[in-house]
Amino acid sequence: MAIETPIDPRTRTRDQIPEEFTWNLSDIYPDWNEWESGLAEFEKKLAGYAELRGTLAQGPDRLLGAFRLEDDLGQLSYKLWYYAGLNYDQDQRDNTANARRQKVQILFAKAAEARSWFTPELLRIPLATVRAWMDANSDLAVYRFAIERTYHQQEHVLDENGEHLLSLSSRFGDTPHDVHSMLANADIKHPVITLHDGRQVTLTYAQYNALLQTSRHQPDRAAAFDAFHGTFAANQNTYAAVYNGVLQRDWFIAQARQFKSTLEAALHGNDIPTAVVENLVATAKAGTEPLRRYHRLRKRVLGLETYHAYDQLVPLIDFDRKYEYSQVIDEVVESMKPLGAAYQQNVRKAFEGRWIDVYENPGKRSGAYSAPVYGVHPYMLLNYNDTLDSVFTLTHEMGHSMHTMLSEAHQPFVYSDYTIFVAEVPSTLSEMLFFDYKLSRTADQRERIVLLQHAIDDIVGTFYRQCLFADYELQAHRLAEQGEPITADTLSRVYFDLFKAYHGDSMTYDDSAQITWARVPHFFGSPYYVYQYATCYASSAQLIQKITSENIDEQREGVERFLDLLRAGGSDYPMNLLKRAGVDLSTPAPPEAVVRQLDKRVTQLEQEIERL
Ligand SMILES: [Zn+2]
Repeated sequence: MAIETPIDPRTRTRDQIPEEFTWNLSDIYPDWNEWESGLAEFEKKLAGYAELRGTLAQGPDRLLGAFRLEDDLGQLSYKLWYYAGLNYDQDQRDNTANARRQKVQILFAKAAEARSWFTPELLRIPLATVRAWMDANSDLAVYRFAIERTYHQQEHVLDENGEHLLSLSSRFGDTPHDVHSMLANADIKHPVITLHDGRQVTLTYAQYNALLQTSRHQPDRAAAFDAFHGTFAANQNTYAAVYNGVLQRDWFIAQARQFKSTLEAALHGNDIPTAVVENLVATAKAGTEPLRRYHRLRKRVLGLETYHAYDQLVPLIDFDRKYEYSQVIDEVVESMKPLGAAYQQNVRKAFEGRWIDVYENPGKRSGAYSAPVYGVHPYMLLNYNDTLDSVFTLTHEMGHSMHTMLSEAHQPFVYSDYTIFVAEVPSTLSEMLFFDYKLSRTADQRERIVLLQHAIDDIVGTFYRQCLFADYELQAHRLAEQGEPITADTLSRVYFDLFKAYHGDSMTYDDSAQITWARVPHFFGSPYYVYQYATCYASSAQLIQKITSENIDEQREGVERFLDLLRAGGSDYPMNLLKRAGVDLSTPAPPEAVVRQLDKRVTQLEQEIERL
């Protein structure tokens, strides 16, 4: 019998990876020729816009024709984009795939131009007229929510002159983000530090994170933290001026569009009341006791004299178990059991149908995602490396993919896409289910500790940290709204006060941490975005209580409501969808569910450590 020497997965080339672990893109198009035909078809259909232009007011048939054209092109665009995009992501050194991807982008820009008249022309028809058309024409009524939403957004649209002026400002409106990205990436001089063993490390973002996550030598972590933040502190006035640009731009747009605040302006599109964010940050801040308890426990377990911000990421114990992909498949499917057999079958289908590109190979895009290829099936890109983290990433992406599947199966195309406001609900809930499954089955004390730490760190990173960030953004924007001066000192004070309010006496504070706000890309690139991670997490925390309830009726109802949320796609405003699932984010109940979940996990962790 011949014995094959296994190839180290990290150095394997793509063609050395068994086919079953790669995704099968021929489900989208059999080959590039068919893709080319798709492009030609798309371009041909674009001409339909010119025929419709100026005729919408003639009656419901014309409007329906326009929406159907949108659907046709939209469906085609998923296939065109992802066939090129996924081919590119599996090896980004592939110039041909890259060129084809760009070809699609160019075509999409052309489409955007061809359809640019559509929304303004629709909005010139009185809403009452369109409503009467919808009442009389059931085919047009399919688009009711999409139409109502467009009119709703128009409440803050200015007249033609105003819109023109605003559109002219959009180019320099992006400048603060660009400047931050240049300052924090392109032009940054990463510091070099010498570790206790004499090794020199250049603190790129990846190296810095790796060091904080793995180094068991506290002075090394301290040195890395100080040097890393020192780089930002050295330019703190520039960072503050850039961030002030973000704040003033947001306040300018909010005022121009007659919103009372920047928060209101940011939430209007999804029709989310400002109380959601205000309530979220207040509940998180009031619920920090379990967070502090966790840090006190870490301090004790790690045997530290003093516990600092840079001690938060070190694993409590060493653990190097491998979770081989082929072996976790059944476990992932099994862990979804509370969601029902049909759901599990879909998960199985994803594994068996080559929807997943599992392993790393040279040139492959890093990270993980789920890609919704409408009319085909979702695809998942992973860089699976046998760690427990990569199993959780797999279950996370599987949650996104099931959402895509259910939403596509139950919604017309126009609502098949869901908003980010609900997107992270099924993904985080999947992770929670897998965690429950694993914890209830392992008697290995070390694995239990690692699982609990993983779950807790997830709550800290996805909920508490994002709430703190959201609170910071809110306070900083309010300074701008109230016409207060905004300097590096002010911003650092806002951030540091919040950081201390969260962690109380569980930490020793270092002044170098004050500048943390300067390195958070979301603050500069997408203000009022991160709170959604926290609201999604809170929604999942509340939903899973019912889904895993011992009471059969309650359990069944919880599952149905959750699946309905997934099936609903983007057919209504996210707050309404969540309310129907039993989650009311305008109340403290969902974030309180996270606080309780953390409290429970920390208690479990304390007990496991006691036993060890
Ligand atoms: Zn996700």
